[in-house]
Amino acid sequence: MTSGPEGRAAELAVRLAALEERLAAACAAAGRERAEVTLVAVGKTWPASDIGALHAAGVRDFGENRDQEAAPKAAQLSALDGLRWHFVGGLQRNKTRSVARYAALVHTLDRVEVVDALAAGARRAGRAVPALVQVSLDGDPGRGGAVPADVPRVADRVAAADGLELAGVMAVAPLGADPLAAFERLATVAERVRADHPAARTVSAGMSGDLEAAIATGATLVRVGTALFGGRPPILG
Ligand SMILES: *Cc1c(COP(=O)(O)O)cnc(C)c1O
Repeated sequence: MTSGPEGRAAELAVRLAALEERLAAACAAAGRERAEVTLVAVGKTWPASDIGALHAAGVRDFGENRDQEAAPKAAQLSALDGLRWHFVGGLQRNKTRSVARYAALVHTLDRVEVVDALAAGARRAGRAVPALVQVSLDGDPGRGGAVPADVPRVADRVAAADGLELAGVMAVAPLGADPLAAFERLATVAERVRADHPAARTVSAGMSGDLEAAIATGATLVRVGTALFGGRPPILG
């Protein structure tokens, strides 16, 4: 590969093609249509020019995990057609007002205080913000997510909030555990949420290392960083 912006754009196109083959194979193995699974390119730490290159290659959904990085990128790339920002990081109450302005989907609602704060931000921004309830599959509160027993309560709160739309659930597989078993537990939680809220059909699960397991268990959205962009540079500062 040559260096410079064109070399990087070509590299991203090659990586995207390889990832699309993986997604197609995973969908075929699960007896599902590729169109049932949305690819979210998680471009945290990567420059706006990378997002622009993937947009030119047809990607429309992009994920970020820090508002400090996402807000300026969203502003810088606001002219790109049809681009949707996914907020996939831990959400602090003091960031909800900013996130509510640009997020097409917030993946990480896990407690009512943050639900209420995001709803207030959405009303202030004058838009409805679709959101997922993050489910903890390992019971470790440090990694985010509501424990399965709390999910219906948080989901009801999102569904009732003026300014939010409950779109489904999200999870990150526990470290060092079988992702297939974990995502099967998520599928059960997702089904329970859908029983009360039939429109909440999104299941956000699967990253570079475990997207096959996620697709096999019904994920409708995968969040892929490393397999698309390469290894993340160290975060400085
Ligand atoms: C960074 C991140 C991803 C992407 O992870 P990779 O392993 O690089 O594909 C997915 N989901 C969340 C919540 C992330 O923070």
